[in-house]
Formats: sequence, structure tokens, C-alpha cells
Amino acid sequence: RAKQQGGNRIKLYSTKMNEQALYRIELESYLRKALEKDEFFLVYQPLIDLETGAIFGSEALLRWNHPKIGLVSPTEFIPIAEEIGLIHEIGRWVLKEACTQTKKWHDLGLGPLTVSVNVSATQFQQPTFLEDVKWALNVSKLPPHCLNLELTESLMLRNISYSIHVMKQLQALGVKVSIDDFGTGYSSLSYLKSLPIDSLKIDRSFIQQIHEDRSHIAIVKAIITMGYGLRLKVVAEGVETLEQMKLLKRLKCHYAQGYIIFKPLAADEFEKQVMKRERMSNL
Ligand code: C2E
Ligand code: MG
Ligand code: MG
Ligand code: MG
Repeated sequence: RAKQQGGNRIKLYSTKMNEQALYRIELESYLRKALEKDEFFLVYQPLIDLETGAIFGSEALLRWNHPKIGLVSPTEFIPIAEEIGLIHEIGRWVLKEACTQTKKWHDLGLGPLTVSVNVSATQFQQPTFLEDVKWALNVSKLPPHCLNLELTESLMLRNISYSIHVMKQLQALGVKVSIDDFGTGYSSLSYLKSLPIDSLKIDRSFIQQIHEDRSHIAIVKAIITMGYGLRLKVVAEGVETLEQMKLLKRLKCHYAQGYIIFKPLAADEFEKQVMKRERMSNL
């Protein structure tokens, strides 16, 4: 009897494995066609200046809507895209789309809005990455200083000297560079000062526990102080409560982003929100 049960368990287990493997294969084949089928779109999460409350830009976040499976999270499909060599093309599409949309807003008179674009490790390491960025700026006519690229610590640590080389070239173009999810990697403070970056985004895990855990306040405080010392702008991501926002303001964190302020918005909704704020500040 026990043997029988064990047998069933193994059977169940392997069925589940098969299902997962099949799902993965299906996902891969859908992903390969997603660009040509126009299934990607970007949402824009406002970034605000904590001192004034003004929206100065957005982070562009990639969305994939497949007609059969629905919305797939970027945390699920981006690693697959990296693995099967699709991230290069997808990354180019994101750069062009984000820059073009932001330039449209400039043309509508919506301030010099900035746009932050996430860059994955494999994409950054492509020898053509710099050319891709130049191309997106050229076709969109977005001023380079309005484009901010978000890189992660682990991406830079893969090959520090090469990363610094590329980052310097980006900065020479006028493009801004920031470290995303700061605090979750292994960056040592000594190389942080030699990195050509403009801002740090404190990872949301620190922000979310800021009131539950005193040590998180200490970490956030230290990152902000360090940011000032290194002349970097500090952004808090994943701000979900008013208390978190008040505390960050008190700690003189420059910028913030999070559900309590705005969720990621469709392009037209983002536009409406920026216009609304501009009208209010003109009253
Ligand atoms: P990320 O760059 O750290 O982006 C922030 C993530 O936090 C986004 O998730 C955003 O929707 C979410 N978020 C914003 N505010 C809050 C909040 O208050 N609370 C919580 N719990 N979450 C918040 P999303 O859009 O699912 O993206 C996840 C990750 O996928 C991104 O993390 C980024 O690493 C990656 N990603 C997204 N778009 C792109 C892209 O175009 N290219 C690449 N290479 N990666 C992307
Ligand atoms: Mg990001
Ligand atoms: Mg982040
Ligand atoms: Mg994050």
C-alpha cells in the first residue's frame, strides 16, 4: 500500500514537472512572436520630487499581454528573454518606445519630463548597446539628459571595468545612469565612489520595512547620507504608506516612487495626471 502511494506521488510529481516544462516551452514560443504581434506595451510610473511634490518623470515598465495567457509579469518573462537571446530586440523596442513617448509629452509642453528605462545584464553587455541607445535618442529626438538608464549592482559586478567603460560613454552622450534595487547587491562602498552614476534607487524591501524594523531606518538613512556625500540623487522605490513618505521626506530623500503616490499608469493616464498637477500648480 505504501509502495502504491509512493508510486502515485512520483507520478503526480512528474506530471507537475511535465506541466511546468510544457508551460515554459509554450511561453518561450509565444515570447518569440510577441514583438511582431505587438503584444508589448509600456506603463509609466510617476517619479516625484519629495520636496515639491512635482512629477518630474517616469519609470517605463514593460508589460506583455498574450491573448491566451493574459498579462505575464516582467519578472517572469525577462529572464526567459535573456536566456533565449531575445532581450536585445526587446530592449531596443523598450528604449525606442519610452523615448518616443516621452518626446511626445515634451512636444505637448509637459515640462522636460525624464524617463527611466530598465536595462538587463545581457542587454548591457551587448557590444551594440551604446549604439542602441544612440539610435533610440536619434529616432525619438529626446534630449539625452532626459533619458535615465537603470542598472543593477549585479549587472555592474559581472565585469566592473567594462561596465564603467560603457557607463562613461553613456554619460558622455549626456544620458543619466542610476543603480536600481540599491542595497540588495554586494557593492562595496569603495567602488561606489568610482562608478559614473547620477542616482541610487533604494530597494523597496528597505522602504517597506522602514517602520517595522529600526535597522531598516538606519540603512535608509545611511544610503541617503552617502548619496549626499557622493553628490548622487537618491530615489526611494516602493513607497506604499503615508508614514513611509513622511519619513523619507524628513530624511531629505530627493525622489520617490510607489503605489501610495501613483501606480504604473497607461501612457494616456500618465499624461492626464501630469496635466492635472500642472494645472493645480498654476492656480
Ligand atoms: P524594478 O525596476 O525595480 O521596478 C519596480 C517594480 O516595483 C515594478 O514592478 C513596479 O510596478 C513595482 N512597484 C512600484 N511601486 C511599488 C509599490 O509601492 N509597491 C510594490 N510592491 N511594488 C511597486 P514590475 O513592473 O512588475 O517590474 C518588475 C521588474 O521587472 C522591474 O523591477 C525590472 O527589474 C523588470 N523590468 C520591468 N520592465 C523592464 C524592462 O523594460 N526591461 C528590463 N530589462 N527589465 C524590466
Ligand atoms: Mg527599475
Ligand atoms: Mg527598482
Ligand atoms: Mg526592485
